[in-house]
Amino acid sequence: MMDLRRTKIVATLGPATDDESVLAELLSHVNCVRLNFSHGHLDDHAQRVRTVRKVSAEMSRDIAIFADLQGPKIRIGHFIDGSVILNPGAEFILDLGCDPHGGTEGRVWFDYSGLLSDVAGRESLFFLLDDGRIKLRVQSQSKSAFVCEVIVGGVLSNRKGISVLGGGICAPMLTDKDLTDLDYACSLGVDMIALSFPACGDDILRARELIDAHDPSIGIISKIERREAVDHLEDIVMHSDVIMVARGDLALEVGEEEVPVLQKHMIKLCRVQETPVIVATQMMESMVTAATPTRAEVSDVANAVLDGADCVMLSAETATGNHPVGVVEKVAMICRRIEAHSLTRKSDYQDKMVANHTQGSIAYAAMYLANRMPVKAVVAVTEQGQTPRIMSRVRSGIPIYALSRLPRSRAKMTFLRDVYPLPFDMSEIGSSRQLVTRIVMFFREQGILNDEDCFLLTHGDDLSGSRATSTLKVCRVADVLSYGCDHDASVYYDELTAGNRVE
Ligand code: PGA
Ligand code: MN
Repeated sequence: MMDLRRTKIVATLGPATDDESVLAELLSHVNCVRLNFSHGHLDDHAQRVRTVRKVSAEMSRDIAIFADLQGPKIRIGHFIDGSVILNPGAEFILDLGCDPHGGTEGRVWFDYSGLLSDVAGRESLFFLLDDGRIKLRVQSQSKSAFVCEVIVGGVLSNRKGISVLGGGICAPMLTDKDLTDLDYACSLGVDMIALSFPACGDDILRARELIDAHDPSIGIISKIERREAVDHLEDIVMHSDVIMVARGDLALEVGEEEVPVLQKHMIKLCRVQETPVIVATQMMESMVTAATPTRAEVSDVANAVLDGADCVMLSAETATGNHPVGVVEKVAMICRRIEAHSLTRKSDYQDKMVANHTQGSIAYAAMYLANRMPVKAVVAVTEQGQTPRIMSRVRSGIPIYALSRLPRSRAKMTFLRDVYPLPFDMSEIGSSRQLVTRIVMFFREQGILNDEDCFLLTHGDDLSGSRATSTLKVCRVADVLSYGCDHDASVYYDELTAGNRVE
């Protein structure tokens, strides 16, 4: 029987998930996995892609794999002793002239020379180091250095990140490392590339061109993690397949108290722009070590689901944590509980929507009916997954089964709330009657539909699914069966059950 958790889970892979039996357990709970190119060697990522493909095929489960590029994260150099202690009130200099390996309590090198001109002339300037643990106020700036006062001190070790409160960094989105990693990830056959620190829609278009040279079906996830991206959100969403609310770096640039409201705003905007959205970072942070989450973390996951997020993401919790499987089980349990709440099951949203294309009209019409008729399922025959993507913007509590023959399309649909992609080959089907018969037999056998159940079916004029969706049908299982199974329906049925499975 299908696992009908409506919210999808993204897990970051790492040393803690490399054991094949741990990975298999992890994959039975999650829908998408993330390769973090800020860490690990290229060989590690290649090995992980191979194992995920192998294990998920054995489980007959569609799992999307995405490569998350590091992007232009600014970092300090190395300290002579590996780390230093900074005391509040002390002077500390970020100095391009310093030896990259010769940092001391007084000064350290940093790896982006453009920082000096990017922030030149700013009145009140603060740097946040090591994920915000250290705060520096810039007192003066020369051609090659920032003289700072330590506001919040602590231990500072090699290669920690530097963020500018308020944003304003002009570094290009793709570094040389990112360009190499992008080529490598595409050659591994990942389903999506996640772009770190895009500033505007043009950044996405430039990456799109590079990815197209490998394979235009590889999708783009845009991570919203800097002030400029918030200012250009609509444009970025328009050119992206998936949006990530990357709360870690975003909090450093805009201020942590701004993030909860931005999260709600981004989720709403993604809904209007028919794009799935992931909420990421520190969702279950304490479970990196602890066996149970804090009350606040449980509420955070719950609120992301209530906000309407498609996916929740785990980073170190799964990649390097002590309980990689325990944490996804907990997240799954919280999602399921919240998804039972009426707030997540009803929507008058589609009443307000104006669709300017047939596909969208059919998708919204289907969800209008799904919210007003006693139907058990929405079944969408699809090639690229466009119709299910639009359907999943509307809350209904009714599962949307997306039948597609293309593995890449199914992988992209794993990000969609309420959508359950299934492999389905329509090549031998000649009539819409054959199609509906075959679908009924399949869902009946899987125990998803009973004879008395009604369901909604959408498909295109071309039954193979390759033409845009144009048809919406209301079907009752018993009626379909009573007007007679096509004489060769049982043949289809055998083929179908041989290759198909449900989560
Ligand atoms: P990262 O991105 O984990 O790659 O930094 C997510 C975030 O910044 O929240
Ligand atoms: Mn980030």
